Amino acid sequence: MLLEIEGLSSHYGRIQALTDVSVSVDEGELVALVGANGAGKTTLLRCLSGLQPVSGGRVLFDGQDITSASPQKRVRLGISQVPEGRQVFGPLSVEDNLRLGTVRRRGKDVSRDLDRMYTRFPVLREKRKQPAGTLSGGQQQMLALCRALMSQPRVLLLDEPSMGLAPLLTGEIFDSIEILKEQGTTIFLVEQNAFAALGIASRGYVLDTGSVVLTDTGADLLRNERVKSAYLGI
Ligand code: ATP
Repeated sequence: MLLEIEGLSSHYGRIQALTDVSVSVDEGELVALVGANGAGKTTLLRCLSGLQPVSGGRVLFDGQDITSASPQKRVRLGISQVPEGRQVFGPLSVEDNLRLGTVRRRGKDVSRDLDRMYTRFPVLREKRKQPAGTLSGGQQQMLALCRALMSQPRVLLLDEPSMGLAPLLTGEIFDSIEILKEQGTTIFLVEQNAFAALGIASRGYVLDTGSVVLTDTGADLLRNERVKSAYLGI
């Protein structure tokens, strides 16, 4: 496994946000973690990027224990997070936003990678000179994804990419994530929109009040009666 979370717990003061959470993501997999508002999804991602203290358990990346590694070290190892909300720099051009993704790596091959992003998402090529703030919400989310990819991560952590997007744009963004998966990117996707996330995931986990309560293939979780009634409103 590329990423292994073993028995992880985390607290905010006396509030326990995560209890004994175990999740694994293999190279090339798209794994989804779904759960309602407040289930602990963002907390788990913050533990993975080193922004939130862990009170029990450990995190392994490519076999190395990174439980207490700094956020900077994790980025260097190839863990890249796309935070909740579209955090693009509105006044900067689309291309400058993409270039910002490369500041931590040594300059080579940036134009080749830019070209690769533009080929994957032609709309970004079309609008490369426009301020990022003029893109639609879905395109900004696409840009945030591509900016993270410019750092050549080994695993991409996505926090609620559908947050605040209209249903049509949500479809567009999940199509983009699926394209990345098909091209071999390893992705850990955290989402409240269980239907969309499990629909593209190879495997999924259901998080409920800080604990993993179910895990299966994405397709089987979508068929699961408990998931249907609690998370899909069926
Ligand atoms: P959302 O979909 O709203 O982002 P989530 O599944 O990501 O929800 P978290 O934000 O990880 O959930 O929150 C998990 C639990 O931890 C919740 O009970 C929340 O109230 C609590 N919590 C989150 N941040 C803090 C904080 N800074 N201080 C205290 N409690 C917090």
